[in-house]
Amino acid sequence: MSKQYLDSIYKYIDDNKDNIIEDLIKVCRIESVTNEDSDIKPFGQSCKNVLDYMLAVGDEEGFKTTNHEYYVGSIKYDIGKEKRIGILAHLDVVPAGEDWTITEPYNPVIKDGYLFGRGTGDDKSGAIAGLYIMKAFRELNVPINNNIEVLLGTNEETGMKDMAYYTAHYEAPEFTFVPDAGFPGAAGEFGRLRFVLTSQKKLSDDFVNAYSGSAFNIVPNKATVVLNKNTSIDYKNLPEDFDVNETAEGIEIIAHGVTTHAAGPERGNNAIRVMTNALLKLDGLKEEDRKIIEFIDNVNNDYYGSFLDIDNTDEVSGQTVSSGTVLKFNDGNIALLNDCRYCVTDNGDRLEENIRKKASEWDYDVTIEEKTYGYHLDVNGPIIQTIKKVYQEFSGNTEREILIGKGGTYAGALPNAFATGCIYSENWGEKPDYLPEGHGSAHQPDEFINIDNYIKGIKLLVTMILAVDEIL
Ligand SMILES: [Zn+2]
Repeated sequence: MSKQYLDSIYKYIDDNKDNIIEDLIKVCRIESVTNEDSDIKPFGQSCKNVLDYMLAVGDEEGFKTTNHEYYVGSIKYDIGKEKRIGILAHLDVVPAGEDWTITEPYNPVIKDGYLFGRGTGDDKSGAIAGLYIMKAFRELNVPINNNIEVLLGTNEETGMKDMAYYTAHYEAPEFTFVPDAGFPGAAGEFGRLRFVLTSQKKLSDDFVNAYSGSAFNIVPNKATVVLNKNTSIDYKNLPEDFDVNETAEGIEIIAHGVTTHAAGPERGNNAIRVMTNALLKLDGLKEEDRKIIEFIDNVNNDYYGSFLDIDNTDEVSGQTVSSGTVLKFNDGNIALLNDCRYCVTDNGDRLEENIRKKASEWDYDVTIEEKTYGYHLDVNGPIIQTIKKVYQEFSGNTEREILIGKGGTYAGALPNAFATGCIYSENWGEKPDYLPEGHGSAHQPDEFINIDNYIKGIKLLVTMILAVDEIL
């Protein structure tokens, strides 16, 4: 694409800054939280409203719009080309939650160059960015080689059933940008395996209770075991940083760790491991109990699933991670919930087989709760390499790589989709200093975007789109 076109597109985006923000504010006023219990299918009244609203905007602008049965909406700049490039964004938001300090969640306000409100970043900004990119192409008569289609989902936050429906009934664009992440972007996703290991045998009555963690994807910072008051286990020799309390239930011992996301478990310290490690060192532990606890300890002996024979690493995506994150006690039986993200060239079926083999050797049962297969685009192919080059030239940043993501992104729900951003950021996580801890990001109270970074991000996104348009 000639520099002259790019310059005029950038100018168009700058000139329309106020319109872009105004349009974003309007769509953020709609409280579009998925409600699948509603009689209004598929996702409730408010998701219907937000899709009706955006499609009406598309109509007004003179684009072709299609409502795919309220799962997904489409606004298309159709110039009669054979192929199309998609821009996928989602219009549903997570519930507002409590403790908003700047404004009411659905009454967006501009303050100090920021726009605050639910959905401003995640992900209505992506929808409005897509709309203005198409407007720029049309108004400036940019000679592109593909049709452009903004796809608007309504169920990203609670299961991505919108895209499951869409891909089952319609043909996806040849290539799709998904501005629901950060720049430069992710060209694939680790596979995911969530499984529960349950002991076939019960712990002896030395143990009254045991519990830790609350969610598959969080490495816990606290683990609790309650011992029978008459136990012969020498709990008085626990390390000093353990809490020991006598309660009505028994002797309660608490281990402390450091919490983190299960996608990056090395950053934390799994409290379940701290607990099992210490228990195994105590005198008076019965042999039958030792074997049950030792298994749990082995499973967590590193963050890569080595003991279960599921560790692996590949050049495309990196290293598999796996952690036992939730501990439960059910009448003496122990259950450990595990979250594994495995590298894209591995196979969840192989992992499952190895886990079953190891578990049965140790008298544990296995239940698979979730198994998704990883995917990746051709990282060394022309499209991803072109996107990378555009990012580096635009930002001057050669450090940030296009990675394979460990989280479940929206792009994984559509073939040939690239997870990227529409908000430019030199430093991830920067925010106004008056916002309290835990405020400002997607899903948090006081969600916001930096308006200048948004405008710059739209420019970067459109540059990527034009570069791909030339070679698709
Ligand atoms: Zn999102």
